Amino acid sequence: MSKIPHRLYLTEEQMPKQWYNLRSDMKEMHDPMINPATMKPAKPEDLYPVFCEELARQELDSTTRYFDIPEEVLEMYKVYRPSPLVRAYNLEKALDTPAKIYFKFEGNNTSGSHKLNSAIAQAYYAKEQGLAGLTTETGAGQWGTALSEACAYFGLPLTVYMVKVSFEQKPFRKAIMETFGSSIIASPSNTTNVGREILKKDPNSGGSLGCAISEAVEKAITSPNFRYVLGSVLNQVLLHQSIIGLESKSAMEILGEYPDIVVGCTGGGSNLGGLIAPFMQDKLTGKANPRFVAVEPASCPSMTRGKYAYDFCDVGRITPLARMYTLGSDFIPSANHAGGLRYHGMSPILSKLYHDGYMEAVAVEQTRVFEAATRFAKLETILPAPESAHAILGAIDEALKCKESGEAKTILFGLTGTGYFDMTAYASYTEGTMTDHIPTDEDLEKSFATLPEIPGIQ
Ligand SMILES: *Cc1c(COP(=O)(O)O)cnc(C)c1O
Repeated sequence: MSKIPHRLYLTEEQMPKQWYNLRSDMKEMHDPMINPATMKPAKPEDLYPVFCEELARQELDSTTRYFDIPEEVLEMYKVYRPSPLVRAYNLEKALDTPAKIYFKFEGNNTSGSHKLNSAIAQAYYAKEQGLAGLTTETGAGQWGTALSEACAYFGLPLTVYMVKVSFEQKPFRKAIMETFGSSIIASPSNTTNVGREILKKDPNSGGSLGCAISEAVEKAITSPNFRYVLGSVLNQVLLHQSIIGLESKSAMEILGEYPDIVVGCTGGGSNLGGLIAPFMQDKLTGKANPRFVAVEPASCPSMTRGKYAYDFCDVGRITPLARMYTLGSDFIPSANHAGGLRYHGMSPILSKLYHDGYMEAVAVEQTRVFEAATRFAKLETILPAPESAHAILGAIDEALKCKESGEAKTILFGLTGTGYFDMTAYASYTEGTMTDHIPTDEDLEKSFATLPEIPGIQ
């Protein structure tokens, strides 16, 4: 048999023309999003003040199996997609494993991550609706950059609330977003009520993702014809990210391959939700039985140590309530370099699948993550984002299990992005000053105590 190439790119004709809605094949739907004003399941109209109308409809549509990707979105996808499916020959060899390791690399665009896949879709629908502009938040900066790229392309003004610690630590992230024409505000800020409240309590607050979300939502609601967009967690984002899984599946089919294990890192769950979507469809419909492994940071362990409960998506408690694995919306993870994984909650779709036993989750310490990242960079020449390196570590651990058992399994993992803006973290690993922060049970109990009470539910 001829050797499989290192990198496989689909042709333009082979690229998916539709997104796949995983909810349509779930045996049981996740619990509905709740409107905190009425305490009733949210209707699309309830979401219109905050979200674009088409995106609100996608958010609540659990039956339409495939959505046509709009022509304008496909055109922009073609600028940086397909992303390659890569066989990690060098890593396999170094691990001396009988397993075959593939990864889907999403770092080939300026945001350096998969986030552009949803940013383009969201900016497109906003433009279609004739909106005056968008607001959003960004933690590590990838989402803010991705949305800046997308808004620049569609000619929409964008205001980004950037978590203050990142704003101060990553001045070049800000400079990139400004290059694309966005306005960047360090959060907490004095431009919103939520921000002013937080600053009153703690003038030196470094901010958090939950706080930046509250500010961005408030700004959208109070600015005429603006809406808010979010880069993860939501069903619509997982829908757009299904492009990752659909491309992966087609590429593997061409190679005559099918994964036994699919591994991904989880912050809010969008890349993993997108990567596993068509494979999970096979599992749900009985066509195949792959395993799915979510890898999260031990410092922010929402799936492995969180509660499956209704919670707000933000600190200011102005977003709708979702039932998900959560550490509590007040949970502020201690300093962890994988900024994109520092979120208290988890996609309701992945939460439900995990709760029902269709997938597994593991939590890993960041020093081990950077060890895997550094090893991978040397072998495969890609300097991974710290977030992505969680998936690398997960895949390595699975490949080593194969070595022990002698099983030649096929592993697929999501390499979500590059880590060029995370060199402070890499430096602290190389210098040996990096430490692992793991919350105690007491820390978590404190934060669980603040979960909202939902009459008749919890
Ligand atoms: C944001 C981000 C993540 C985590 O977000 P998910 O929604 O869980 O996918 C992972 N990797 C990179 C590179 C990111 O930017």
